[in-house]
Amino acid sequence: CAFLKTFKLKGFKSFARLTTLHFSPGISVIVGPNGCGKSNLVDALKWVLGEQSFKSLRSKSSEDLIFSGSEKAPPLNMAEVSVVLEQHNASEIMLTRCVFRSGENRYLLNKKHCRLKDIKDVLLNMGFGLKNYAIVDQGQIAYLLEISPLEKRRLLEEAAGVTKYREKKEETLHK
Ligand code: ATP
Ligand code: MG
Repeated sequence: CAFLKTFKLKGFKSFARLTTLHFSPGISVIVGPNGCGKSNLVDALKWVLGEQSFKSLRSKSSEDLIFSGSEKAPPLNMAEVSVVLEQHNASEIMLTRCVFRSGENRYLLNKKHCRLKDIKDVLLNMGFGLKNYAIVDQGQIAYLLEISPLEKRRLLEEAAGVTKYREKKEETLHK
């Protein structure tokens, strides 16, 4: 399966300066005092994977995603997050998302401009989507216990790799 190899942030929420994190296969743990930016990292990861819901990013607008300034540094005009995902120790893929104060978003696949749909397609093929089990938020365990059998089935389908075919079918039906 795919794993998150490199994670780069610049201007995203509290990460004013370019910050690069390298991960190895296996379990990595991020620890730090309250308010140091742990949840902001999770927000950045969801965001670069295509999240469209501000609520899920603990924000109200694009501006909340961009570094708003501190005593030491002035506000920035854009936020940029990149991830490198590695698949089966072979192919690597780099996803990038930028946002400007105007609210304009840009998506890049291996440093070339692309559509959000291209990012979604790549992630679906890697089994690394947003809607799946890849990111388990606080409170999600309770949610899993409460959802309907139909919703549980959707999650299982995502895990089994069926969802990409369902999405393709729906796309075709709506053309
Ligand atoms: P906890 O352990 O309490 O959950 P945490 O490490 O998860 O803390 P975060 O929620 O990631 O902390 O970070 C919160 C900090 O990020 C706050 O200090 C907040 O002011 C800062 N922050 C959030 N958005 C921005 C922004 N747009 N510009 C600058 N700072 C921001
Ligand atoms: Mg937190």
